[in-house]
Amino acid sequence: MQHTVALPAVSVRLPDHYVWGTELKIPRENRHMAQTPALFISHGSPMLAFEDGPARRFLLDLAPRLPEPRAILVVSAHYEAEHPTITTGAAPGTIHDFHGFPQALYRLSYPAPGAPEIAARIEALLAAKGYEVSGDPERGFDHGAWVPLILLNPHADIPVVQLSISPRHDAAWHYRLGEALRPLREEGVMIIGSGSITHNLRDLTRTEPGAPPAPWASAFTEWVHDKVEARALDELLHYRDRAPNAVHAHPTDEHFLPFFVALGASPVGEKAERLHHSFTYGALGMDVYAFGEAA
Ligand code: ZN
Repeated sequence: MQHTVALPAVSVRLPDHYVWGTELKIPRENRHMAQTPALFISHGSPMLAFEDGPARRFLLDLAPRLPEPRAILVVSAHYEAEHPTITTGAAPGTIHDFHGFPQALYRLSYPAPGAPEIAARIEALLAAKGYEVSGDPERGFDHGAWVPLILLNPHADIPVVQLSISPRHDAAWHYRLGEALRPLREEGVMIIGSGSITHNLRDLTRTEPGAPPAPWASAFTEWVHDKVEARALDELLHYRDRAPNAVHAHPTDEHFLPFFVALGASPVGEKAERLHHSFTYGALGMDVYAFGEAA
């Protein structure tokens, strides 16, 4: 069966086999008990919503490889706050937090419900670890959340909560934030860190989406991949000193901090896998990682 979901000004064709979890190597009767993986998704340019390419096709095909969550928590590079802040509204709006893109992108919305009870659970988990936490009932979904979600779950029928990052804190602080969130994965909440595996907008000199990657971008993404494969946590947490071209790959680190939240949500020793690897515009790494079971 092939079906399409009509969104304002765009229609997203779902793969024929679009049913959550159908490709998981878990018996159907146990699937509802499956622990959700934590994901890191590189969201690239907002044009990912429209512009065909390997990363977009990958995200459209991802749901069958994942257990269906009862809610999704997105930790996006585009939600910054001094202290951890959680969206608590029941019906968050869609924020078009970008400039100079085609009008059609501003007409897109992602009408997923919020999940005030999940937000309260997250607040309790963080408060128990000593974090000063706030809720924001007014905040909607930024494009770091809704652009990948419009591809991952075009139906927008799974509740979504967002949690901020705090760029004045380092990778280790965000890793510990992820650790505090681990219990959510047992409770059917999928944690998604949404950023970019490389993010240097001043180096987007290549104008073609399919341009070959710059050497610095390749070297950095392969270093991260090697360290994830080896579960070299200390290396990853000190990436700014130890990875090749780290400061070039991330002049500021807000697009990489969500990676550490996803990493922290996964105990060392758990399966970790790069599910997707590509570049857009030769410099924006589009890698996707899963920590935990994904097909
Ligand atoms: Zn971004």
